[in-house]
Amino acid sequence: AKKLGRNNSQLFAEEMHHEALNQLTLEADLRRALIQEEFLLYYQPQVEISTGRIVGLEALIRWQHPKLGFVPPDQFIPLAEEIGLIAPIGQWVLQTACIQHQSWQAEGLPPLRIAVNLSARQFHQSQLIKIILQTLEATEIDPQYLELEITESAAMQDVEFTIQTLQELREMGLHITIDDFGTGYSSLNVLKHFPLNTLKIDRSFVQDIVENSSDAAIAQTIVALGQGLKLQVVAEGVETPQQLSFLRSIHCDLAQGYYFCPPVPAIEITQLLRQSDFS
Ligand code: C2E
Ligand code: CA
Ligand code: CA
Ligand code: CA
Repeated sequence: AKKLGRNNSQLFAEEMHHEALNQLTLEADLRRALIQEEFLLYYQPQVEISTGRIVGLEALIRWQHPKLGFVPPDQFIPLAEEIGLIAPIGQWVLQTACIQHQSWQAEGLPPLRIAVNLSARQFHQSQLIKIILQTLEATEIDPQYLELEITESAAMQDVEFTIQTLQELREMGLHITIDDFGTGYSSLNVLKHFPLNTLKIDRSFVQDIVENSSDAAIAQTIVALGQGLKLQVVAEGVETPQQLSFLRSIHCDLAQGYYFCPPVPAIEITQLLRQSDFS
């Protein structure tokens, strides 16, 4: 009722103020989040379609905000990039994932590849190689078990840079994946120069793969491309048995999604791995 007396532009200004305030609060909170240990890593299994075995895990960051609860990464990762916080956050993710891998190893669990997402800014950061080397050294993780996911659009920002950086990372023995593949308009002529291990089919194509013949054709084309280039192909966002059987029929290698398991805390992965028969 109080607002009725004001005109639209006043209301708009108030809303803008409110939004700006939210943004500022979130920024200030994000700056403190690392120190206050509000970040967590969740892990989501990647399953080999032909055998049903878990072969890898994708690490996904979670922010447990003291007042707001879980803030989704889609909301704070872009903000962290904007305000220059992605480097320390990214370093924390890398380190935490490697330490977790080490502790699963110490428990005698079978070694699984752990995939870490690199944002565009992080990928272009000059310290990247050095930080990865330091982390590998400190955690003594075998580099073949560390997978880096770089989005297709980040990889296409500066092709020369990407080729050179990926070459260095591959020489270090890391596993390289192009994430969200199919959404970033990479030319095949460029793609063939990227030293890669894996292509990850974007969830937007998997979602309607059963009903939508265009999406089915795109997925099938990506799998064929992967086979031609000798790359592994992963489908993300698999939610139903119908999606899975379609992916099996086109010989997609790996699948990841709620159908198997949502992203879960490390402890739940430990339990899952203890139950699994890896013989
Ligand atoms: P992404 O790398 O494409 O990650 C896949 C997203 O799909 C995750 O969302 C995951 O929880 C979700 N997902 C997995 N299976 C299913 C499914 O079956 N159905 C549906 N609808 N969704 C599924 P999440 O964890 O919210 O992450 C969103 C994005 O935030 C990620 O997209 C990635 O771009 C970014 N992100 C997450 N963690 C990190 C991180 O540690 N570092 C960086 N730089 N970015 C991250
Ligand atoms: Ca990813
Ligand atoms: Ca993705
Ligand atoms: Ca995505």
